Amino acid sequence: MTIIHNLGFPRIGAQRELKFGLEAFWRGEASAEQLNTLGTWLREQHWQLQAGLDWVPVGDFALYDQVLDMSFTLGHLPERVRNLPGSELDQYFRVARGRSAGDSTGVAAGEMTKWFDTNYHYIVPEFTADTRFALNASRLVQQLAQARAQGVNPKPVIVGPVTYLALGKAKDDSNKLALLERLLPVYAQLLDTLAAEGVEWVQVDEPILVTELDADWQHALNTAYHQLKSSKVKILLASYFGPLLDNKYLAANLPVAGLHVDATQDAGDVQQLIGLLPAHKVLSLGVISGRNIWKTDLGATLDWLEPLAERLGERLWLAPSCSLLHVPVDLDSEEKLDPEVKNWLAFAKQKLQELQVLGQALNQGRASVQAELAANAAALAQRRNSPRVHRPEVQAAVAAITAALGQRQSSYAARAQQQAAHLRLPAYPTTTIGSFPQTPDIRRARSDFKAGRIGAADYQKAMQEEIARSVREQEALGLDVLVHGEAERNDMVEYFGEQLEGYAFSQFGWVQSYGSRCVKPPILFGDIARPRAMTVEWITYAQSLTAKPMKGMLTGPVTILNWSFVRDDQPRSTTCKQLALAIRQEVLDLETAGVRVIQIDEAALREGLPLRKSQWHEYLDWAIESFRITANGVQDGTQIHTHMCYSEFNDIIAAIADMDADVITIETSRSDMELLDAFENFQYPNEIGPGVYDIHSPNIPTQAHIVQLMQKAAQRIPAERLWVNPDCGLKTRQWNEVIPALQAMVAAAQELRAAA
Ligand code: GLN
Ligand code: ZN
Repeated sequence: MTIIHNLGFPRIGAQRELKFGLEAFWRGEASAEQLNTLGTWLREQHWQLQAGLDWVPVGDFALYDQVLDMSFTLGHLPERVRNLPGSELDQYFRVARGRSAGDSTGVAAGEMTKWFDTNYHYIVPEFTADTRFALNASRLVQQLAQARAQGVNPKPVIVGPVTYLALGKAKDDSNKLALLERLLPVYAQLLDTLAAEGVEWVQVDEPILVTELDADWQHALNTAYHQLKSSKVKILLASYFGPLLDNKYLAANLPVAGLHVDATQDAGDVQQLIGLLPAHKVLSLGVISGRNIWKTDLGATLDWLEPLAERLGERLWLAPSCSLLHVPVDLDSEEKLDPEVKNWLAFAKQKLQELQVLGQALNQGRASVQAELAANAAALAQRRNSPRVHRPEVQAAVAAITAALGQRQSSYAARAQQQAAHLRLPAYPTTTIGSFPQTPDIRRARSDFKAGRIGAADYQKAMQEEIARSVREQEALGLDVLVHGEAERNDMVEYFGEQLEGYAFSQFGWVQSYGSRCVKPPILFGDIARPRAMTVEWITYAQSLTAKPMKGMLTGPVTILNWSFVRDDQPRSTTCKQLALAIRQEVLDLETAGVRVIQIDEAALREGLPLRKSQWHEYLDWAIESFRITANGVQDGTQIHTHMCYSEFNDIIAAIADMDADVITIETSRSDMELLDAFENFQYPNEIGPGVYDIHSPNIPTQAHIVQLMQKAAQRIPAERLWVNPDCGLKTRQWNEVIPALQAMVAAAQELRAAA
């Protein structure tokens, strides 16, 4: 008998019920009781969808974040909130968001960072040398009772002790690993508590097993599981987000009852693991991707699994590769998706149905699910052969890519002279990152247009008015290189996806990014073609309103790739190059239309870095090549900008320099310009615009502070290569914040010029 189970279910709700419930609570429009009732209801819904599984996860539901939940379970809250008044829920949201509903006690929120290589963000546990832990198992115990009452077979899910430490940050630079000794007794107590509740299996997540581990961390894993092995529950140690590679031996031999691994990426790695695994251990294979939205090839999966099932018998478990948190809830809600494309997809609910088909095929023979297998095979065959997926001319264009395509005609030094001659910019030129406030008027016009309440001509007129307004404001401010303001863009990826062929859009394909925030990644299903220019009309309209240079604004191929659900039937590198060729055409069209400054945003380039450093090189090779293909077909006199909104460049600075953008604008204001060290040490040769104020905050920067920051910058980078700009785009701000902030920025640039 093969056992089927799940590692975690999306908690946001098929209609984002949790998002709306949380936001109502935070606004003070719903009570804590109403919020808890909603949580209970969502868990019930989700368990019902999983009722056909042998084991369902319990404890995967979180009101805000599963890591924050774990911190509460371990009685580990940041010092600064510990003694504040209020309920546990108040405390929870204080750590999550800085303050809770109706709470005037100002307190800084916990830091948030990406959960491995996903787009989910967790609240970072904060450690010091004095950190202590104390068990609070109430959440798990309550949810266990709730699951039992519903008649499902519960398997509690917790973040493992070593991953928990790895995810946290030592605030005092102490060694986090030293806390393991204090942490393990609390985990042991937790497992005992669960055992006393009659729990048989506990899923303990240790995804750090798919990263590179030095000797200390390997040792920590050994210590932890040797110490926990006396507990009365069986531990299913779960690793996910990639193959185990060099951690296989370690993982196979930790003293636990079972091991779950991601089996979607590297079947050879799994085969080797099976050879290493002691004969009494359960092996759970994650055969259905929890990271993409494609149907699984059930026939091919069974071909692989059948001999394994024979060999492993009762010891074989099947599951999705990771928690389904990273995929949307239910494909059935989609009413507008093209039926052909829809038939290729599976969201969380559909993935669990696939899992049941696999389980039944193994346990009762393929004949028992013949119809399901036939339908799956037919959908896959249709996808494989669809002319909407495969466009020979696009594949030929990718095959014909040469190094010359990504090569500017002359070196930066020669280009810079030509650009200076016609752009005639002052020292410390000022610009912005692209977007201006997305006002309620803009949003209303867009939703009216989408709903058919206004026509295309009216929509265009409304957007042109916004563009004209932003040009007027920029001229009044005295900025040097202007932007059109991106009024017409709902989102920097969706806007381009909607105009490219090979993309589809869901209505409800929401995935939690953090807390109540969700994203709806577009679905890249086919070879990419650009039927017509996407931005030229807006940019040339903006240019027609001013004699100053207007900066064309595009999203780069790597960012489009990293913020989409992409194909699993070809390497990411190939998809990225297709995007690069399409955006390259847009760049060249802008240039032909007379636009002489073009910015290509790569906000998500860093995000795409693989979990293992040994694989960075390969990723950066094709990512940077894709950018170069996009950008570097222009004439020497055309100035290419790129923008990246994050603040770690040290380890990728060579790749950044290799992009060869004439100007890069980056987020720096909160690092006090220190992150320019990476550029200084590398002797970065081109121009840089270090952000001079944080756009995430409503605070208005002062002229003096900006001058001070730029002076610091000028100690690191020659002044003639510095630009003055905000950290990022201004779309989330209001005009009454933007104008005084940019006034201060322009005045600061003038002061710097006068002093030079
Ligand atoms: N051009 C985009 C904007 O200004 C860049 C956004 C980003 O970097 N995330 O909004
Ligand atoms: Zn940015």
